Amino acid sequence: ALTEKLSRLVKEIRGQARITESNVQDMLREVRMALLEADVALPVVRDFIARVKEKALGQEVVGSLTPGQALVGIIHKELAATMGAGVADLNLATQPPAVILMAGLQGAGKTTTTAKLAKWLIERRKKKVLTVSGDVYRPAAIEQLKTVTRQAGAEWFPSSPEQQPLAIALAALAYARTHYFDVLIVDTAGRLAIDEAMMREIQALHAALKPVETLFVVDAMQGQDAVNTAKAFAAALPLTGIVLTKLDGDARGGAALSVRAVTGAPIKFAGVSEKIDGLELFDAERHAGRVLGMGDIVALVEQVTAGVDLQQAQKLAAKVKSGGFDLEDFLEQIRQMKKMGGLSSLLDKLPTQLAAKAGEADLSRAEKDIRRKEGIICAMTPEERRRPEIIKASRKRRIAAGAGVPVQEVNRLLKEFEQMQAVMKKMKGGGLMKMMKRLGG
Ligand code: GDP
Ligand code: MG
Repeated sequence: ALTEKLSRLVKEIRGQARITESNVQDMLREVRMALLEADVALPVVRDFIARVKEKALGQEVVGSLTPGQALVGIIHKELAATMGAGVADLNLATQPPAVILMAGLQGAGKTTTTAKLAKWLIERRKKKVLTVSGDVYRPAAIEQLKTVTRQAGAEWFPSSPEQQPLAIALAALAYARTHYFDVLIVDTAGRLAIDEAMMREIQALHAALKPVETLFVVDAMQGQDAVNTAKAFAAALPLTGIVLTKLDGDARGGAALSVRAVTGAPIKFAGVSEKIDGLELFDAERHAGRVLGMGDIVALVEQVTAGVDLQQAQKLAAKVKSGGFDLEDFLEQIRQMKKMGGLSSLLDKLPTQLAAKAGEADLSRAEKDIRRKEGIICAMTPEERRRPEIIKASRKRRIAAGAGVPVQEVNRLLKEFEQMQAVMKKMKGGGLMKMMKRLGG
């Protein structure tokens, strides 16, 4: 897969102590091959490589980065730029109801995404949302939308296979108007392949509804086919955005890199699970990191933020500042870590190989390890926790016995604590507080 290839390359490149014109060429040749094998469109690859080369050869190596790290940084940045700059939000700036038209092939994920989007709009944008299905060719499709719309907590406008898609959509729009809906999402029929009749139908829907957003839904696992389909839809409709679905699957990754370049439309959302809440605003930077196998650091930070009690964090920061970080605080940290959903949920966010390496067995061992540490600290007296330096041989034996672990484990914990204390001391100069503030938003 693309990610495995690229992350292997990234590791190799990172290790390079010196970047010369010829090894840049060699490395970029391999990156180029990996992209082409992953079905990234040729012009997109060419353009990408040209930009990286230009920046790499003209760059100044900054600060403590090795030239290899700097090159990886450039690749990451240009990869993100290929997929779009920043996060492209949904445009709802219009007289309500704002109409969102869903386009794409059968099985792309239009119906699922319609409901996910409804939920997202209700929860994140506090909108009143109506959905309607114009898929009159498959009776089950209308029922499917009804079911998922209910799960989303939105309202569903009834339609039936006997009606014309255009009549259905206009009736739904009239209903949305008179009932003060903010948004109407129109799910449409897809075909298994590009088809003239399908294109004419969705063009007619577009002309009549004047949607503020025309979203092209595409299965990220489709590779080169996704690129061709995207091209055809972009030629037929003024697309305002793309939804890449099934990014949770074993996507080859190429689609994400190409669709933006071949359609000119920004990728706005990513489908990341079959579930109703499996929709995220697409973040090119983050996705580039994922593709390069650098792990999902941003998501990791967010998850940490969600789990960590900010007040607790501030208290901790104050403690560190005054030099009083002790084993009580260490225990608190261990407990925070448990709150973050345990190690297994964090593991999802790590680069694939790393995650694979830390297989199930290692994982439960690590979780057990956390529990044991907690046990050791709990076996200490409050005085020992505040002043770990008083813990000498006899106290260690007592603590070990109390926690039911060998003395070496108590030693290991104390050593780890010392190391952590040293790191904390280094961060004393306001750095920690700044980091916490950023995490707290
Ligand atoms: P439509 O024909 O375009 O309306 O496609 P559907 O919405 O019916 O989706 C087709 C299949 O893909 C269904 O089984 C969905 O559950 C599944 N699906 C859609 N989006 C995602 C996604 O982001 N991740 C995963 N894993 N499955 C998805
Ligand atoms: Mg459908």
